[in-house]
Amino acid sequence: MIEYENLGLLNKSFFEAYRKSFDSTLESGWYILGNKVRDFESAFGEYHSAKHCIGLASGLDALILALRAFEFEPGSEVIVPSNTYIATILSIIHCGLKPVLVEPDIRTYNIDPTKIEEKINPKTKAIMIVHLYGKSCEMDPILKIKNKYSLKLIEDCAQSHGATYKGKLTGTFGEFGAFSFYPTKNLGALGDAGALLTNDDQLALTIKRLRNYGSDIKYYNELVGFNSRLDEVQAGFLSIKLKSLNNINSHKNKLADIYLKSLNKNFILPTIDKDYFDVFHIFAIRHEKREKLKEYLLRHDIKTEIHYPVAPHNQKAMQGIIEEKDFPISELIHKTELSLPISYFHTEDDICKVVEVLNKF
Ligand SMILES: *Cc1c(COP(=O)(O)O)cnc(C)c1O
Repeated sequence: MIEYENLGLLNKSFFEAYRKSFDSTLESGWYILGNKVRDFESAFGEYHSAKHCIGLASGLDALILALRAFEFEPGSEVIVPSNTYIATILSIIHCGLKPVLVEPDIRTYNIDPTKIEEKINPKTKAIMIVHLYGKSCEMDPILKIKNKYSLKLIEDCAQSHGATYKGKLTGTFGEFGAFSFYPTKNLGALGDAGALLTNDDQLALTIKRLRNYGSDIKYYNELVGFNSRLDEVQAGFLSIKLKSLNNINSHKNKLADIYLKSLNKNFILPTIDKDYFDVFHIFAIRHEKREKLKEYLLRHDIKTEIHYPVAPHNQKAMQGIIEEKDFPISELIHKTELSLPISYFHTEDDICKVVEVLNKF
């Protein structure tokens, strides 16, 4: 059986270091906002050459706090891709703002920059982009639009740790880079965790307050805050794994290369472009008979996933919130996408086996 993901195997090479780190936190008696969080924040910030990194409780919280920091008027509009995981859109709704969905480019699956401007009006305050599957969005035209209309830019980097566009890391283009360290992500913790990157001192202070009941000095509350702190145990694990992030990404690239070089023309493969370093959080192929293909692979002991089966605008939870229903490109992706095994624990042999089976479909 070739599994799609196995978190125990994925983390196996880190077990010893994790145990040491856990023991040191346990014995320190300091479990919230201590040295381990500070160390991870400075290491993750340095990795990105970002001035500030603020550790948070989850990726969703990172997106929510980023939006909160701007104090947009209720009902303000935020541009967001129609093809994303629901969390991106939920963050906008939870802040009392209106998500305005924009279709993806069918070649990259990321927001189509040529379709953003038609959705902008005086109520538009921000663009929240998603670097989906581990590929950066096309940043040049997006930055041009951001500047032309003076919009804030928040990057959802939950799937793009270490991905670059023209040599620049995702998470460093906008006012905020928002990260999730959910266990399956390229940089994953052993529980929930997230972070924001920013180069703006004032925004960084606001996020530090928002994550801690609105306070940066104990018992003095400047803002109506939340409890969204990264904890010491997870921060310790993340600092250890961060040292291997580039290895994890290059391993995934090696596996992706096998798929890209060996899969036959039956399948629509990810687009590769020299301006992009992709980190393949997900290796997404497309096929008209996706369900049959998934069953066929399972019959041959290969597990796959679908990211995602239902487009956000068709989710029950979005009834009465997202009124527009005309997103045929997103729907096509959600109908035809299949995610192939590409975890850190998979070997080149595993991938060659998957290719062999796939090419006989
Ligand atoms: C995982 C993910 C999130 C949410 O992160 P959590 O840490 O689970 O809250 C947000 N956006 C995208 C694109 C994701 O893949």
